Amino acid sequence: MAEFFHGRMLIDGKLTEAVDGEHLESVNPATEEVIGRVPAGKAADVAAAADAADRAAPAWAALSAQERGSLLKEVASALRAESDRIVDLEIRDSGNTIRKLKLDIAAAAESLEYYAALAGELKGETVPATAHGLHFSMREPFGVVGRIVPFNHPIFFAAGKMAAPLAAGNTMVIKPSEQSPLSACVLGEICQQVLPPGVVNIVTGLGSTAGEALVSEPRIRRIAFTGSVPTGLAVQRAAAEVAVKSLTLELGGKNPMIVFPDADLDAALPAAVRGMNFNWAGQSCGSQSRLLLHESIYDEGVARVAEIVSGLKVGDPRDPASDMGPVNSKAQYEKVLRYIDHAEQDGARLVAGGHSLRGEAFPSGYWVEPTVFADVTPEMRLFREEVFGPILSIVRWSTPDEAVALANDVEYGLTASVWTRDLATALDTVRRIEAGYIWVNGVSIHFPGTSFGGFKNSGIGREEGIEELYSYTQPKFVHVNAMPR
Ligand code: NAD
Repeated sequence: MAEFFHGRMLIDGKLTEAVDGEHLESVNPATEEVIGRVPAGKAADVAAAADAADRAAPAWAALSAQERGSLLKEVASALRAESDRIVDLEIRDSGNTIRKLKLDIAAAAESLEYYAALAGELKGETVPATAHGLHFSMREPFGVVGRIVPFNHPIFFAAGKMAAPLAAGNTMVIKPSEQSPLSACVLGEICQQVLPPGVVNIVTGLGSTAGEALVSEPRIRRIAFTGSVPTGLAVQRAAAEVAVKSLTLELGGKNPMIVFPDADLDAALPAAVRGMNFNWAGQSCGSQSRLLLHESIYDEGVARVAEIVSGLKVGDPRDPASDMGPVNSKAQYEKVLRYIDHAEQDGARLVAGGHSLRGEAFPSGYWVEPTVFADVTPEMRLFREEVFGPILSIVRWSTPDEAVALANDVEYGLTASVWTRDLATALDTVRRIEAGYIWVNGVSIHFPGTSFGGFKNSGIGREEGIEELYSYTQPKFVHVNAMPR
């Protein structure tokens, strides 16, 4: 039996318990066993973390970009060295499958290395505004950045997304999700070894206590939030009560994949299943959860997608042969089953899955079949609400205008995918789709250096490119009069 994990927070270079000694238990979604615990951080813990980050900020900002970059590369190496331990812990904490989790750790390390190398690009500009003067800009860090992390890619969001703020010279307070906080505690151990005290602080705890305290902390003027739209709105409101804060919001999606009649169906239909991210039990923000098929290929497309999804192997997330594990938590499990009920009540046609898998094969745990509903229409909840679970909706369309209107008819605008062999059709569709990250004849992959983020209620700001690095700096313009009279 695997060891029980006692996580601790990292505040001011020390691994600590919460101020009142309270804990939150972590449950393995595959078995419902309690596998570890973390401190239930409170407002006082967030204040101590912000204080430490504030004190550490001047010295960290005073390092050269190369010196900060070297330390970030050391964090990346340590993450890789701890990969097996993190994978084991995170599988048990989140239910994510081993194949994909290894990629998340690699992506976190690559993000640290990418921003380590980019730190030297924090250049300003000179402007020839007058003949006798020098007009130039510098980029300065904000000071303390607060980052709030969702449950679905815990180590990637905690470790990978600290890269840009730190490279830009900020210090940080990071709050992992209470649903899967364990790997962030390992990250805390790594940061304690590699970074000066206070540069990274990790406070575990509930959103309603530690999360709210972080948003309301006056010394944290720059917040990066990844999570759901309702929480993003609450973060925006709460931040505005305290100060004018700079926010990045990476929120939800109900992302369309439009397949035109000329598309290569042998490529498009398996991609539709990959794009739904069943490997993450559908719990990935960029998932193509609405498959929009032209009427001429609709019946064939529905049948073939249903067949592929029915063939996915649901099983132990530690087994590399498993395509999908359990969903992350009891709340997620109940939510997914609720949406299956909604879809049936609303008249969608179930073509694959549709049931809980708790029973003989899985006596406990949060297991649901990978599920596909066809004949989904805009009046249905499944069409417009983000389930964030393993349910793919298929929608029929007849004209390109209708396809684009259906694609855009939701509050979200995160990703989209367009499948056609015709370049003009592809580009015209891309131009009309309201989304921040669009694949043509592709799905899922994030390409290094290309900025990710959403239109509409899917968010504000962009991450993963140089824009993210700049977003953690404030430009300061200086005007030197070389000939004062
Ligand atoms: P969530 O909004 O429930 O929680 C996210 C984080 O916010 C957690 O750490 C939580 O503790 C904290 N939190 C909760 N209430 C808070 C409050 N009042 N103040 C401050 N913090 C608070 O989201 P989740 O269920 O963990 O994650 C799923 C959501 O995240 C989905 O909507 C998904 O699409 C979205 N997501 C978006 C991206 C992206 O890049 N756009 C990436 C991953 C996930």
